Amino acid sequence: MTKIKIALLIKQVIDTRISEGWAPGADGTVDRNALPAIINPEDLHALEQTLRLKEQLGGNAEIVAISMGPQRAAEALRECIWRGADDAVLISDRKVAGADTLATSYALALAIKKVGASLIFAGRQTIDGDTAHVGPQVAQALGIPQITYAEEVALEGDSLVVKRRLDDGFEVVKSPLKALITVGSSAAKCRFCNAKRMLRSRKAEIKTWSAADLDGDLSRFGLAGSPTQVLYSEPIVTESKGGVVLTSSIEDIATLVAELRSNHTIE
Ligand code: FAD
Repeated sequence: MTKIKIALLIKQVIDTRISEGWAPGADGTVDRNALPAIINPEDLHALEQTLRLKEQLGGNAEIVAISMGPQRAAEALRECIWRGADDAVLISDRKVAGADTLATSYALALAIKKVGASLIFAGRQTIDGDTAHVGPQVAQALGIPQITYAEEVALEGDSLVVKRRLDDGFEVVKSPLKALITVGSSAAKCRFCNAKRMLRSRKAEIKTWSAADLDGDLSRFGLAGSPTQVLYSEPIVTESKGGVVLTSSIEDIATLVAELRSNHTIE
């Protein structure tokens, strides 16, 4: 049996647990280089599913992590190798900067073709862009089936059996091995970095490809290839009004009840 190539789409995102410094500038773009970054959480769930699938295939698979972003996204890709991915490619070029989800998906689809992967895994959604567009758009660009909201992926003969998590239950679907699967946060957590792999691949080479390396239509990359324009955005600042310490005295309980009545929490 020939080795199955699995592409894993990894986005390095701003760690949104920090609250300052990520408001967009006047041109509607964010300077991500200036902010702390992590692997998008759902992409780690997707990585775990690829590793389990490789185990089910008796190791007969190669997992290639692919990211598009600034040079420092190589850190995220190296972490994927430490967690079990076999290879990594970073698309990094000024020509792909300012891409909306359509231009991002176009570049990623070209990279997947160049890698020669038939099965693609991605996170369901990012914690910064939050659109959940990229997985489905990549599937569309490649002309392959897509399975979203995956929670468990199992091999059954020449097919994949995928359990999809829905709002009111789950659904089990079968697909060929040529498909794109987006994995949500209800899927199993990713295993930790392996110490031996970390030592072995501390300086693992991350291949870097430019827009020209992707052999596509240059007018479809980056800002030039992005039909979406951010017209206006405003950061929401939440402020605490401070706290009140209540005792169990009759007066304090009466104050609390009055406040809960006034804001309609109780009748
Ligand atoms: P989702 O669709 O929510 O992601 C789903 C999954 O797709 C992820 O979990 C991951 O597996 C995969 N994925 C998503 N993005 C990538 C990626 N880059 N590499 C690999 N896998 C990925 N962003 C900038 O950093 N700089 C800019 O200047 C910029 N300009 C923009 C201009 C416009 C007009 C718009 C609309 C967006 C711009 N963006 C910019 C945001 C950029 O388009 C998104 O970050 C990107 O398309 C991914 O969208 P998302 O975060 O909503 O991903």
